[in-house]
Amino acid sequence: MKDKEQIEIVGDNHFSSSIETPLRPNAFDKSDDEKIQSIQHHFSKIMEELGLDLTDDSLSGTPYRFAKMYVKELFYGLNPKNKPKLSVFENKYEYKKMLIEQNITIDSSCEHHFLPIVGYAHVAYIPQKKVIGLSKINRLVDYYARRPQVQERLVLQILNDLQEALGTEDVIVSVTAKHLCVSSRGIKDQSSFTTTLEYGGSFSKTDIRNEFLKIIGQEKI
Ligand SMILES: [Zn+2]
Repeated sequence: MKDKEQIEIVGDNHFSSSIETPLRPNAFDKSDDEKIQSIQHHFSKIMEELGLDLTDDSLSGTPYRFAKMYVKELFYGLNPKNKPKLSVFENKYEYKKMLIEQNITIDSSCEHHFLPIVGYAHVAYIPQKKVIGLSKINRLVDYYARRPQVQERLVLQILNDLQEALGTEDVIVSVTAKHLCVSSRGIKDQSSFTTTLEYGGSFSKTDIRNEFLKIIGQEKI
């Protein structure tokens, strides 16, 4: 166990140790329902410790609602069984230019404070032999967002999966998001936001990358 000062430093620097989300080997031995039951129990203890009266009608259902929200909504992306199938198709029309899927909603949570990270992802690729259904990109972004995250890891996880599925390095992923752990606690900066950008292949060339950045910077629909 790290000392308390070290714990705060890791949180405030948003330090991440690896591209893989750190998971226990037995992470999914329990079913979702068993997890909900256990989290419900522990969260009711937290509420009680804070001094709340769980016999009150307004509060009595909160531990269950909280547990279900964690397992089924906010953190469903931890479980590989929920990973979207990235079915790809042959690039029959031989489209060889950039395809951009932009303004994809990011609804994530910071793994250091368990507070929301909200914003947008912009993803582009240059197809070679394979193309992917557009909504699959949105689903993949949502899957990786719905787990305790750091923004740097989020873009890398999306990038790696798309590069593998599409069989090309020519992918770029950008995320611009607001971290509630920066705006509502700690430094309490309401206006700042964070952008992360990762890319490979042709996007390493400045002109190609600038074309992407110019398009995502334009007025939206
Ligand atoms: Zn945080």
